Amino acid sequence: MNSSTIDLHVHTTASDGTLSPSDTVRRAAELGVTLLSITDHDTTDGIPEAQQAAAASDIVLLSGVELSVGSGEREIHVLGYFMDPNHRPFQTILSKLRGARDVRNERILARLKELGASVDPQRVRHIAGDGSVGRPHIAAALVEAGHVASQGEAFGRYLARGKPAYVGRERLSPADAAQAIREAGGLSVVAHPAKSGLIGQIEDLVADGMEGIEVFHSDHSERDVEILLGIAREGNLLVTGGTDSHGPGSGKWVEIGSVAVPEWVGEELLRRAPQAERTQR
Ligand code: AMP
Ligand code: ZN
Ligand code: FE
Ligand code: FE
Repeated sequence: MNSSTIDLHVHTTASDGTLSPSDTVRRAAELGVTLLSITDHDTTDGIPEAQQAAAASDIVLLSGVELSVGSGEREIHVLGYFMDPNHRPFQTILSKLRGARDVRNERILARLKELGASVDPQRVRHIAGDGSVGRPHIAAALVEAGHVASQGEAFGRYLARGKPAYVGRERLSPADAAQAIREAGGLSVVAHPAKSGLIGQIEDLVADGMEGIEVFHSDHSERDVEILLGIAREGNLLVTGGTDSHGPGSGKWVEIGSVAVPEWVGEELLRRAPQAERTQR
């Protein structure tokens, strides 16, 4: 079984990854990836550039996104595949979510200032480039300002949930996220359920409209995969997998395509693709 050619979870500079969408696609192609999805946080802005690069390679690129949704105290990541990036209501929702990030980031910077670890908001904006701003960008600014030695330390001391500069943000409910993805022509998948401690909540999330679970992931153990495959089989859920790579030099770098995702995962996902996506092949 050829198992290292599928990667359905990759971030780019459109959010908090370090490689541009086209460099991501080129690197994936060099590494032998044939089925790829770019899944940036709360944005599909990287997709057109990635699509162009994919057209010049052997890669089949699926439109993707990763939404942070809320369920009480819990943060749940939801992957969306096959959405039409030009679907206006979907883009309106994404831009609201990015707006909520900006509000939160301001509050994080205010907390950091109180804690004696000031960073310049313009540096954060500059580090994020054109992309959707996330905590990794603030972590990079903290390193740059000399307040911490590494991005890991920035999360450990300040930014992780439960740490003094952690601030939550307004989020969609799981049901609203699933509906938004569906209306844009996409399928929603619960991202890294074992990593997020959501194994006991999968049934509820399926009731909310999720159609699949991410089984294969760089932070999932073999045992996690076994458990999740059982749940997927029992609930007749779509199975996906990917690395969650954020590119070289990111906080915790995982190489694109380095998680073994079986071929049947790609085949079954493509079988669910909207017509347009299938004829592209
Ligand atoms: P945000 O989207 O702004 O909430 O930031 C979430 C991103 O921060 C994740 O996708 C990870 O890339 C990164 N992240 C979250 N927690 C940690 C951590 N403890 N150490 C390093 N990076 C983290
Ligand atoms: Zn990320
Ligand atoms: Fe995630
Ligand atoms: Fe991710």
